[in-house]
Amino acid sequence: MIIFSDFDGTLTEEGKLTRAFFDILDWTRAHDHEFVIVSGRSLSWGHFFLTHFPVRACIMEGGGVIAYRDASGEIVEEALVSKEQLSCLQRFTNDLKHHYPHIPLSADSFGRLTDRAIEFHQMDEDWVTQVMDFMDTNKINYSKSNVHINFWCGEISKYLGVKHFLEKYRPAVTPESSWFFGDAPNDESMFELFNNSVGVSNISKYLHKLKHKPRIILLGEENSGPRGVLNFLRNLI
Ligand SMILES: [Mg+2]
Repeated sequence: MIIFSDFDGTLTEEGKLTRAFFDILDWTRAHDHEFVIVSGRSLSWGHFFLTHFPVRACIMEGGGVIAYRDASGEIVEEALVSKEQLSCLQRFTNDLKHHYPHIPLSADSFGRLTDRAIEFHQMDEDWVTQVMDFMDTNKINYSKSNVHINFWCGEISKYLGVKHFLEKYRPAVTPESSWFFGDAPNDESMFELFNNSVGVSNISKYLHKLKHKPRIILLGEENSGPRGVLNFLRNLI
Protein backbone atom coordinates (compact mmCIF):
# COMPACT_ATOMS: atom_id res chain seq x y z
CA MET A 1 0.00 0.00 0.00
CA ILE A 2 1.00 3.61 -0.42
CA ILE A 3 0.47 6.15 2.33
CA PHE A 4 -0.07 9.55 0.75
CA SER A 5 0.10 12.53 3.08
CA ASP A 6 -0.13 16.27 3.06
CA PHE A 7 2.85 17.94 4.78
CA ASP A 8 2.04 21.21 6.65
CA GLY A 9 -0.24 20.63 9.62
CA THR A 10 -0.53 16.92 8.84
CA LEU A 11 3.10 15.87 9.28
CA THR A 12 4.21 18.95 11.23
CA GLU A 13 3.13 20.23 14.64
CA GLU A 14 3.01 24.01 14.94
CA GLY A 15 5.31 24.20 11.95
CA LYS A 16 7.91 21.81 13.37
CA LEU A 17 8.96 18.28 12.52
CA THR A 18 8.65 16.16 15.63
CA ARG A 19 9.43 12.61 16.73
CA ALA A 20 6.02 11.45 15.41
CA PHE A 21 7.01 12.29 11.82
CA PHE A 22 10.10 10.08 11.98
CA ASP A 23 8.08 7.34 13.71
CA ILE A 24 5.70 7.39 10.72
CA LEU A 25 8.64 6.93 8.32
CA ASP A 26 10.00 4.09 10.50
CA TRP A 27 6.58 2.43 10.69
CA THR A 28 6.13 2.64 6.93
CA ARG A 29 9.54 1.14 6.24
CA ALA A 30 9.13 -1.61 8.84
CA HIS A 31 5.83 -2.65 7.22
CA ASP A 32 7.24 -2.44 3.71
CA HIS A 33 4.87 0.28 2.51
CA GLU A 34 5.66 3.39 0.49
CA PHE A 35 5.26 6.92 1.86
CA VAL A 36 4.54 9.74 -0.60
CA ILE A 37 4.26 13.39 0.49
CA VAL A 38 1.56 15.34 -1.39
CA SER A 39 2.14 19.00 -0.60
CA GLY A 40 1.40 22.52 -1.76
CA ARG A 41 5.07 23.35 -1.06
CA SER A 42 7.41 24.06 -3.95
CA LEU A 43 9.28 21.64 -6.19
CA SER A 44 12.50 22.74 -4.46
CA TRP A 45 11.04 21.43 -1.19
CA GLY A 46 10.38 18.17 -3.04
CA HIS A 47 14.11 17.95 -3.77
CA PHE A 48 14.75 18.45 -0.06
CA PHE A 49 12.33 15.64 0.87
CA LEU A 50 13.91 13.25 -1.65
CA THR A 51 17.40 14.13 -0.49
CA HIS A 52 16.91 13.94 3.28
CA PHE A 53 14.00 11.58 3.94
CA PRO A 54 13.62 7.92 2.96
CA VAL A 55 11.01 8.63 0.25
CA ARG A 56 11.23 7.72 -3.45
CA ALA A 57 8.67 10.17 -4.77
CA CYS A 58 6.67 13.23 -3.80
CA ILE A 59 3.88 15.18 -5.42
CA MET A 60 4.46 18.92 -5.00
CA GLU A 61 2.83 22.29 -5.75
CA GLY A 62 -0.62 20.93 -4.96
CA GLY A 63 -0.34 18.22 -7.62
CA GLY A 64 1.35 20.32 -10.32
CA VAL A 65 4.61 18.39 -10.39
CA ILE A 66 5.94 14.98 -9.43
CA ALA A 67 9.55 14.54 -8.32
CA TYR A 68 11.02 11.08 -7.93
CA ARG A 69 14.21 9.09 -8.02
CA ASP A 70 14.64 6.96 -11.14
CA ALA A 71 16.25 3.51 -11.26
CA SER A 72 19.74 5.06 -11.23
CA GLY A 73 18.94 7.24 -8.22
CA GLU A 74 18.75 10.52 -10.15
CA ILE A 75 15.99 12.99 -9.24
CA VAL A 76 13.51 13.41 -12.12
CA GLU A 77 10.68 15.93 -12.38
CA GLU A 78 7.45 15.69 -14.32
CA ALA A 79 5.26 18.81 -14.61
CA LEU A 80 1.59 17.98 -15.02
CA VAL A 81 0.70 21.19 -16.91
CA SER A 82 1.69 22.34 -20.41
CA LYS A 83 4.36 24.89 -21.43
CA GLU A 84 1.54 27.29 -22.46
CA GLN A 85 0.07 27.05 -18.98
CA LEU A 86 3.47 27.80 -17.45
CA SER A 87 3.73 30.95 -19.62
CA CYS A 88 0.17 31.94 -18.64
CA LEU A 89 1.23 31.70 -14.98
CA GLN A 90 4.28 33.89 -15.53
CA ARG A 91 2.20 36.51 -17.37
CA PHE A 92 -0.43 36.60 -14.63
CA THR A 93 2.22 36.81 -11.87
CA ASN A 94 3.69 39.89 -13.60
CA ASP A 95 0.19 41.44 -13.82
CA LEU A 96 -0.47 40.70 -10.17
CA LYS A 97 2.79 42.35 -9.11
CA HIS A 98 1.95 45.31 -11.32
CA HIS A 99 -1.48 45.75 -9.66
CA TYR A 100 -0.27 45.03 -6.13
CA PRO A 101 3.43 45.96 -5.98
CA HIS A 102 3.63 45.00 -2.29
CA ILE A 103 2.00 41.60 -2.62
CA PRO A 104 3.91 39.18 -0.35
CA LEU A 105 4.81 36.38 -2.74
CA SER A 106 6.20 33.49 -0.73
CA ALA A 107 9.93 33.30 -0.22
CA ASP A 108 9.89 29.89 -1.92
CA SER A 109 8.15 31.21 -5.08
CA PHE A 110 11.52 31.20 -6.88
CA GLY A 111 11.67 27.41 -6.38
CA ARG A 112 8.22 26.88 -7.88
CA LEU A 113 7.54 25.52 -11.35
CA THR A 114 3.78 25.10 -11.83
CA ASP A 115 2.32 27.58 -9.33
CA ARG A 116 3.17 30.62 -7.20
CA ALA A 117 2.24 31.31 -3.58
CA ILE A 118 1.24 34.30 -1.46
CA GLU A 119 1.89 34.70 2.28
CA PHE A 120 -1.65 35.77 3.06
CA HIS A 121 -0.93 36.05 6.80
CA GLN A 122 0.89 39.29 5.97
CA MET A 123 -2.25 40.77 4.37
CA ASP A 124 -5.47 42.09 5.89
CA GLU A 125 -8.75 40.39 5.05
CA ASP A 126 -9.88 43.09 2.59
CA TRP A 127 -6.70 42.80 0.60
CA VAL A 128 -6.98 38.99 0.49
CA THR A 129 -10.54 39.33 -0.86
CA GLN A 130 -9.41 41.87 -3.50
CA VAL A 131 -6.63 39.58 -4.68
CA MET A 132 -8.94 36.57 -4.88
CA ASP A 133 -11.44 38.67 -6.89
CA PHE A 134 -8.60 39.72 -9.21
CA MET A 135 -7.80 36.02 -9.76
CA ASP A 136 -11.46 35.20 -10.41
CA THR A 137 -11.69 38.01 -12.98
CA ASN A 138 -8.58 36.70 -14.74
CA LYS A 139 -9.83 33.09 -14.57
CA ILE A 140 -6.81 32.02 -12.58
CA ASN A 141 -7.17 28.97 -10.32
CA TYR A 142 -6.19 29.21 -6.68
CA SER A 143 -6.56 27.53 -3.32
CA LYS A 144 -5.82 28.46 0.25
CA SER A 145 -3.81 26.15 2.50
CA ASN A 146 -3.00 26.84 6.13
CA VAL A 147 0.14 28.69 5.03
CA HIS A 148 -0.37 30.09 1.51
CA ILE A 149 -2.73 31.11 -1.25
CA ASN A 150 -1.42 29.13 -4.22
CA PHE A 151 -2.38 30.05 -7.78
CA TRP A 152 -1.78 28.42 -11.18
CA CYS A 153 -2.97 28.03 -14.79
CA GLY A 154 -4.42 24.73 -15.96
CA GLU A 155 -5.92 21.82 -14.10
CA ILE A 156 -3.97 21.06 -10.95
CA SER A 157 -5.18 19.25 -7.88
CA LYS A 158 -3.72 16.88 -5.34
CA TYR A 159 -6.17 14.25 -6.58
CA LEU A 160 -5.06 14.59 -10.24
CA GLY A 161 -1.42 14.37 -9.13
CA VAL A 162 -2.03 11.22 -7.08
CA LYS A 163 -4.14 9.63 -9.83
CA HIS A 164 -1.44 10.29 -12.46
CA PHE A 165 1.26 9.02 -10.10
CA LEU A 166 -0.57 5.75 -9.44
CA GLU A 167 -1.45 5.15 -13.10
CA LYS A 168 1.97 5.96 -14.53
CA TYR A 169 4.45 5.04 -11.82
CA ARG A 170 2.74 2.49 -9.56
CA PRO A 171 0.20 0.66 -11.79
CA ALA A 172 0.24 -2.39 -9.52
CA VAL A 173 -1.03 -0.34 -6.54
CA THR A 174 -4.76 0.33 -6.33
CA PRO A 175 -6.24 3.46 -4.74
CA GLU A 176 -8.43 1.15 -2.63
CA SER A 177 -5.35 -0.27 -0.92
CA SER A 178 -3.87 3.17 -0.21
CA TRP A 179 -4.57 5.97 2.26
CA PHE A 180 -4.42 9.75 2.24
CA PHE A 181 -4.02 12.05 5.27
CA GLY A 182 -4.75 15.78 5.25
CA ASP A 183 -5.74 18.73 7.40
CA ALA A 184 -6.98 21.67 5.29
CA PRO A 185 -9.08 22.92 2.34
CA ASN A 186 -6.23 22.37 -0.14
CA ASP A 187 -6.69 18.62 0.52
CA GLU A 188 -10.34 18.76 -0.50
CA SER A 189 -9.90 17.17 -3.96
CA MET A 190 -8.52 14.09 -2.20
CA PHE A 191 -11.36 14.10 0.32
CA GLU A 192 -13.85 14.27 -2.54
CA LEU A 193 -12.41 11.73 -4.95
CA PHE A 194 -10.07 9.43 -3.04
CA ASN A 195 -12.04 6.99 -1.00
CA ASN A 196 -9.57 6.22 1.78
CA SER A 197 -9.12 9.73 3.14
CA VAL A 198 -8.42 10.65 6.75
CA GLY A 199 -8.48 14.09 8.36
CA VAL A 200 -6.21 14.52 11.36
CA SER A 201 -8.04 16.10 14.31
CA ASN A 202 -6.72 19.64 13.74
CA ILE A 203 -8.89 19.70 10.60
CA SER A 204 -11.79 20.59 12.92
CA LYS A 205 -11.22 24.33 12.44
CA TYR A 206 -11.79 23.99 8.67
CA LEU A 207 -14.65 21.49 8.60
CA HIS A 208 -17.31 24.19 8.15
CA LYS A 209 -15.47 25.38 5.01
CA LEU A 210 -15.26 21.96 3.35
CA LYS A 211 -17.90 20.86 0.89
CA HIS A 212 -16.21 17.45 0.77
CA LYS A 213 -15.01 16.12 4.08
CA PRO A 214 -12.56 13.25 4.63
CA ARG A 215 -14.20 9.85 4.97
CA ILE A 216 -12.66 9.43 8.42
CA ILE A 217 -12.14 12.38 10.77
CA LEU A 218 -9.90 11.79 13.76
CA LEU A 219 -10.82 13.37 17.07
CA GLY A 220 -8.90 14.50 20.15
CA GLU A 221 -5.69 16.42 20.74
CA GLU A 222 -3.74 13.14 20.72
CA ASN A 223 -4.74 12.70 17.05
CA SER A 224 -3.55 16.09 15.91
CA GLY A 225 -1.10 16.21 12.96
CA PRO A 226 1.50 13.44 12.70
CA ARG A 227 0.38 11.84 15.97
CA GLY A 228 -3.03 11.23 14.37
CA VAL A 229 -1.40 9.72 11.27
CA LEU A 230 0.77 7.45 13.42
CA ASN A 231 -2.09 6.31 15.69
CA PHE A 232 -4.25 5.56 12.68
CA LEU A 233 -1.54 3.54 10.92
CA ARG A 234 -0.74 1.57 14.08
CA ASN A 235 -4.42 0.68 14.45
CA LEU A 236 -4.61 -0.52 10.83
CA ILE A 237 -2.37 -3.50 11.53
MG1 LIG B 1 -1.88 21.06 5.35
